[in-house]
Amino acid sequence: MNRDTSTHLYEQAQQVIVGGVNSPSRSFKAVGGGAPVFMARGEGAHFYDVDGNRYLDYLAAYGPLIHGHGNPHIAQAIAQAATSGVLFGTPTKLEIDFATMLRDAIPSLEKVRFVNSGTEAVMTTIRVARAYTGRNKIMKFAGCYHGHSDLVLVAAGSGPSTLGIPDSAGIPQAIANDMITIPFNDLGAFETALQKWGAETAAILVEPIVGNFGIVRPEPGFLEGVNELAHRYGALVIYDEVITAFRFHYGGAQDLLGVTPDMTALGKIIGGGLPIGAYGGRQDIMEKVAPLGPAYQAGTMAGNPASIAAGIACLQELQHAGTYERLDEYGGLLAEALLQAAERHGHQVTLNRVGGAFALYFLDHEVRNYDDAQAADGEKFARFFHLLLDEGVLLAPSKYEAWFVSTAHTRADIDETIAIINRVFAKL
Ligand code: PLP
Repeated sequence: MNRDTSTHLYEQAQQVIVGGVNSPSRSFKAVGGGAPVFMARGEGAHFYDVDGNRYLDYLAAYGPLIHGHGNPHIAQAIAQAATSGVLFGTPTKLEIDFATMLRDAIPSLEKVRFVNSGTEAVMTTIRVARAYTGRNKIMKFAGCYHGHSDLVLVAAGSGPSTLGIPDSAGIPQAIANDMITIPFNDLGAFETALQKWGAETAAILVEPIVGNFGIVRPEPGFLEGVNELAHRYGALVIYDEVITAFRFHYGGAQDLLGVTPDMTALGKIIGGGLPIGAYGGRQDIMEKVAPLGPAYQAGTMAGNPASIAAGIACLQELQHAGTYERLDEYGGLLAEALLQAAERHGHQVTLNRVGGAFALYFLDHEVRNYDDAQAADGEKFARFFHLLLDEGVLLAPSKYEAWFVSTAHTRADIDETIAIINRVFAKL
């Protein structure tokens, strides 16, 4: 497959854009380097690069594109917003409609506020939790990504719990000291951390189904235990549903799993492909937010009519009967094909799947936390990634990212992908 134009554009990009990419996860650094593919156009479950090559898209732009590229209903909503006004700096009725839609789908969102990204949404839930509790420390699970605000870039963790060591330069140690990191699916470690720091802890941040070191389900009783223990120590529970909301069913993972947090952060799918974030939760907590309360949060672009209209259209499309059943069916077909091909060619793999999202780890044991995921063979993943790419299947360039099936994938797309998977494993 010729990708000369991408290679050339990557050289040009590096002259003007730091690292040639506007988000580090888009670089191919984690899969042995090389030029990322420069896309020119998307159509349904496919996109086409600047050299004219076609790819089946399982990246879904890291999650938002649950309807693939150019969904007509979403496109029409954006076009309408483009002509009737993309920004007013005043409230609009659409914002009420969308907030109501979100609350109908995720009842714990008693009050909502729209922002512009998942990062902003999580960052603000932390501020509000601190305002509500009058405490500073936050706990999170190792390996979970919650955006790039200072505090949550701390992920270090050895032993049952550690005080934070930042994963990025530029984060003062004083800030990192307020983050405590615990292994996912380990209630004992959580309880130990609470015994030590519970009285100072404002909140625990939770991805109810992990989407940032593959796909990892909570073990039975884990989320219930987190709620019970956190509340016993007077800490709030914040669900980061930036990846999970509307991914597995029409609502949050919280509704699927039957566990209710105090606050929730949203993003990705709810913008229909345009920039968005939202946070919300219990009314008495949300009333700490300005203009009602002392916790300040604002945004020039927040609730802009284009993102809101795209988000409404995206959720409307998800309401069609059979949508999630088909995502699950296609996810299941791909997962089965991957497992069979791996076995046929003698590769040890672990596959974690929830509905149309799944992760393949080159690993001989199950993945229930970040340490397990880290043990997966990154070099083999890199070879697998490039073999798929050369056959026209695009995944995220990282062993930690999930495959996402979209509603635009057809049965023919799935069959084509399965044939490619079989060829790729034969060469791996
Ligand atoms: N939270 C989770 C679980 C995420 O996966 C991400 C992004 O990947 C974020 C928050 C940050 O969202 P954004 O990239 O929109 O700032």
